[in-house]
Amino acid sequence: MLGLRLCVALIACPLFGYCCLPDSFQVLDLSHTLSNESLRWPGGSNFSFTILTRGWQNNNSFWLELNKFDTPEHIGTHMDAPAHFYNKGWKVHEIPADRLVGPGVVIDVKDKVVKDSDYRMTPADVESWEKVNGPIPKGAIVFMRSGWDTRYPNKTLTFNTNTPDNESTFHFPGFHPDTARWLIVNRNIGMIGIDTPSTDYGPSPNFEVHQIISNASVMGLENVNNLGALPPKGFIVTVAPVKLFDGSGGPVRILALVSKDGSGMCTANSAGHLMLFWAFAFGLWHVLSSLWKICIT
Ligand SMILES: [Zn+2]
Repeated sequence: MLGLRLCVALIACPLFGYCCLPDSFQVLDLSHTLSNESLRWPGGSNFSFTILTRGWQNNNSFWLELNKFDTPEHIGTHMDAPAHFYNKGWKVHEIPADRLVGPGVVIDVKDKVVKDSDYRMTPADVESWEKVNGPIPKGAIVFMRSGWDTRYPNKTLTFNTNTPDNESTFHFPGFHPDTARWLIVNRNIGMIGIDTPSTDYGPSPNFEVHQIISNASVMGLENVNNLGALPPKGFIVTVAPVKLFDGSGGPVRILALVSKDGSGMCTANSAGHLMLFWAFAFGLWHVLSSLWKICIT
């Protein structure tokens, strides 16, 4: 009978996967390209990319290309691991894989940022979003959209100062500490993300949002790209940093799986899909069980 159960699983899982990933879904890239142009906080080392080998080998019998790169962790589109601001927090390699995928949410405060470049998204902004879209799901990856990604990689525009090597002159929007706390306590979110260089706003002296999320084992995403292409909800986000031992963060590829018709059916905690899956699996189980009984009797 174990073989039959396995058989059901093997048949049902791919079919379930097919239900979740039909042609009507598109994958959006939320990362800027990592290169010599990538922006980082002042101080520390630069990104470098070196060609080691690039050419035809062994009398033109095969092409070989090998490069190496040297990068700070916190550069370009990147993830802050909880270890970044909490000495007992997860390092990058310790973050459980299921914490790197979640239902996505975009809270757009671009209009407020136009009037105030030091704007901090408030709990009231979140509550206004929920009145229209419903509660933010548990484990969500909550993006704040300020429209800042169009400034990237222009250093002066992104840090919004004529002295981008002096962090005390930075002016860009971020999360309000009260908002980070509210999302953690009331919605049990998995991650926050923003299209600016920091989850804290530019003038922040002590990175309070960083401290709050790190202490709660919530990851932060910075310099996120393309948030304007996303719906407010109903999509899945995968966040894939290199599994760096002892890392406090790292460059990351962020992908959003978005339904083309905006139905938002395929979410990580979609009870509907799970019910459909189990209904299908049990239905198939009954059919196969009946066939088995017919066969052996
Ligand atoms: Zn960082």
